[in-house]
Amino acid sequence: MERAWIHIRGIVQGVGFRPTIHKLVREYGLTGTIKNTSSGVELELEGERETLSRFVEALPRRAPKLAVIEEIETAYTKELRGFTDFQILDSRTEALRNTLISPDLCICDDCLRELNDPTDRRWRYPFINCTNCGPRFTIIRDLPYDRARTSMSPFPMCPDCEREYHDIESRRYHAQPDCCPVCGPEVFYLDGAGERLEGDAVELARQALKAGQIVAVKGLGGIHLACRVDEPEIVQRLRRRKQRDEKPFALMCRDTACAERICVVSEEERELLESVRRPIVLLKKKSPGLLHISENGFVGVMLPYTPLHVLLFGEDIDMLVMTSANLSDTPMMTDNDEALRNLHAIADGFLLHNRDIQTRCDDSLCWVLGGKEYFARRSRGYVPFPVRTGRELMPILACGAEQKASFCLSRGDSVFPSQHIGDLKNMETFDCYTRQIRHFERLFDIVPRALACDEHPDYLSTEYAAARAARENVPLIRVQHHHAHLAACMADNSVSEKVIGLIWDGTGLGSDGTSWGAECLIGDFQGFERFGSIRPIPLIGGDLATKETDRVAFALMHEAGLDTGGIEKAPVYESMLRANLNCPLSSGMGRLFDGAAALLGIKTRCSYEGQGAVLLEAAATEDDGIFPVVLDGSPLRFDWREMIRALVAARSAGEESGRLAARFMNTLIEMAVRQCLTARETSGLQTVALSGGSFQNMFIMARLPGRLEEAGFRVLRHRRVSCNDEGLSLGQLMIAQAATESGDSLSQLR
Ligand code: ZN
Ligand code: ZN
Ligand code: FE
Repeated sequence: MERAWIHIRGIVQGVGFRPTIHKLVREYGLTGTIKNTSSGVELELEGERETLSRFVEALPRRAPKLAVIEEIETAYTKELRGFTDFQILDSRTEALRNTLISPDLCICDDCLRELNDPTDRRWRYPFINCTNCGPRFTIIRDLPYDRARTSMSPFPMCPDCEREYHDIESRRYHAQPDCCPVCGPEVFYLDGAGERLEGDAVELARQALKAGQIVAVKGLGGIHLACRVDEPEIVQRLRRRKQRDEKPFALMCRDTACAERICVVSEEERELLESVRRPIVLLKKKSPGLLHISENGFVGVMLPYTPLHVLLFGEDIDMLVMTSANLSDTPMMTDNDEALRNLHAIADGFLLHNRDIQTRCDDSLCWVLGGKEYFARRSRGYVPFPVRTGRELMPILACGAEQKASFCLSRGDSVFPSQHIGDLKNMETFDCYTRQIRHFERLFDIVPRALACDEHPDYLSTEYAAARAARENVPLIRVQHHHAHLAACMADNSVSEKVIGLIWDGTGLGSDGTSWGAECLIGDFQGFERFGSIRPIPLIGGDLATKETDRVAFALMHEAGLDTGGIEKAPVYESMLRANLNCPLSSGMGRLFDGAAALLGIKTRCSYEGQGAVLLEAAATEDDGIFPVVLDGSPLRFDWREMIRALVAARSAGEESGRLAARFMNTLIEMAVRQCLTARETSGLQTVALSGGSFQNMFIMARLPGRLEEAGFRVLRHRRVSCNDEGLSLGQLMIAQAATESGDSLSQLR
C-alpha cells in the first residue's frame, strides 16, 4: 500500500471534475480526499502502487468533456494516512492563483432536455445550468471559484438545489451557479417606458418581437437588441435608433437548419455553430439578399446559447437580429438600470433579469478557415483561456492598440489575452479597458514587471502604459505596430525563428514617422527590417480620407497622371495636393482598397473602418486576370501607378466592376508573392507570416496562402487570436519579453 499525492492543473474547476474523479476512485477501489486549490485540484489517494499508477494514467482519458488537463504532478510515499473512504474537502485560497477559469459555455443537452420537460422542476427555467454548461467567466468576481465569489452570491440555494449540490452522483454536484425557480434569479419584462408588466416575461417578449418591436435581451456577457429579420422596415428602424447606418448586424438562428435557409453552411461551420463556445460564425449568404442585415457577402450567425435564448425562440421564431445594445460604439451594456436609462429611445421592451453580469464579454466573431476558427473578434466562449507559448515568460502587461483594443498578461508560459474591448477613444470603453486590466491582474494574480505598448504616442493605450510605467517604476517597451503584428502571428503559431511577414492593415505608425500598412517585414521577436512596402499614398485631408474615400481615389489617379476631371471637388483636392496641405503619406493597404473601391464606383464614402475593402471583396466575381505589377527600390515598393492606370482604363472601356475588383486583388496577391520571393533570395527564409486586418479578406485568404505554398513557403496565419489590431497585444508582449531577456536593452529601458 502507498499514498499518492496528485495535483492536476488546467480547467478542472466548475466542469464536473470532482464527481468524475469520485466515480473513478470507486472504480479503482481507492480511498482518500480531493480538494480544489487555487492552482487546480489536489488528490490524496491510498491503494496499491500499481492501481494508483493506473488511476493516474486513466485520468486524462476519463476527464469530463469540458475539463482541460494541462499538467498532472504526482508523488508517492509509503507513509499512510489510513483513509477509509473518499472525501471532498473545502476549497482553500492559495497565494498563487494558477488555476484556469473556464469560459462561458452554452446550455448542454441534459439541461436542454430538462428545460423542455414539464415534469422537471426546472421546466422553462431560464437559468438552468449544471457543471457541464452555463455562465463562468462573466459571473466570476474572484478565485477560488465558488458561489460566494460570483454574481450568484445573492441567491442562497434552496434545500433541493443544496441536496443536488452535495450529491456526488448529481450532474450539479458543486455546480456553483446552480439554481432553480425557487431560489435562483428571475426574469422580467418591462415595456418601453420601463414599467414592469405582469405575466410570463418570456412570452411577453416573444409577442413584442413577433409584433415587430425592438426588445433588449440580457444575455451572458451583455445586453442585446433583438428584432425580426424578415421586415426590412423594422431593421431600418433599429438602424435609425441605434445610429448604425450600414454596419452589418449579427443574427441568432433557432438552429442550423434555419441558418441554412439563408446561408451556405459547411460541415465545419455547422460544427462550430453548434459547439459549446457558440461564436458568431461569418457565413456566405446563399443569395445576394438580406442587404438590410449585411451589405457584404457574409452574414454573422450564432445559435441560442443561454436557456433564455432557447425559450425566447420557442418553436416558432426562426431568426432574430441580435446586436449589442450600445450607443454608437460605446461598450455593450451589461447593467439593468443602465439599459433602462439609455435605451428608452431604442428599445420598445426589455427582457431583463436580476443576475448581474460581472464581466462584460461580447460575442466572439469568426470565419471558419481550414476547419478552425479564424477570429475577427475573440471573446465570449474563448476568454479567459490562455495562449501557451512553450517558454517561461516574465509577468508583462501588453497594452494593445486603440481602435480594436485588447491587452495581454503573461504568467508562466501562458499569455492571457483579454476579451474584445472596442475603441478606446470612447471614455466608457477606456474605462472598461482599465477596469478589465485590473480584473485580469487580480484574477490571475499577475503583477506586471514590464509594460509594452504601441509606438504611437497618441494611442490612449500608450498613454495608459506610459503613465503606469512611470508610476510603478517598471520598464516600458514601445513596439512598432507592424512588428507587433508579425510577432503576434509568430507567437500564435508557436514560432520564434526569423520569418518574412506580410503585414497588411489600415494604418499604424511607422519607424519613419509616416503611416504604414502594406509592409513586407523580415524579423523576429528581437527586431525587424522593412524589406518591402508600397508606394505611399497622399491622404488628402488626413483622417478625413479614410471616410471620404473618393479623396484616395483622386490621389491615386493624380499620382498615376490620369485625368481627374470626373471627380467632384477635384480642384480643391488638386490644390491641396499641390500645396502639400494636410496630405500625410500612408502606405496602408486599407487605403489602397478604399481607393480602388471608390475608383470602381463600389463605395466613395465609408461609414465604418474597412468598409471599402469589405464591399470590394463582396463585389468581386470570377476573374483570373491581373494588372501590371511593378516593384522597385529599397524597401522594395509596389508602385501601384501602373495598376491604377490599367484599372481605370478597363473601367472606362466598360468592363464590369466585379471582375476588376477580382483583378485588383489578384494583383495584390501577385505582388505579395513576388515580394516574398525576393525576400527569400536575400534572407534565405522560407516562412511567411500573414497578419494585419486586411487579411480578414476571404478572397485573399482563399488564394494567397496556396500561392505561397506552391512557391515553397511555409505559411503562418492566425489561429488563436485575431489578425487585426485586437491580436496585436500578443506580439507586443513577446517583443517586450525578448527585450527584457537581453540585458543591454533592459538597462537602456531603465
Ligand atoms: Zn447543463
Ligand atoms: Zn433551488
Ligand atoms: Fe494594425
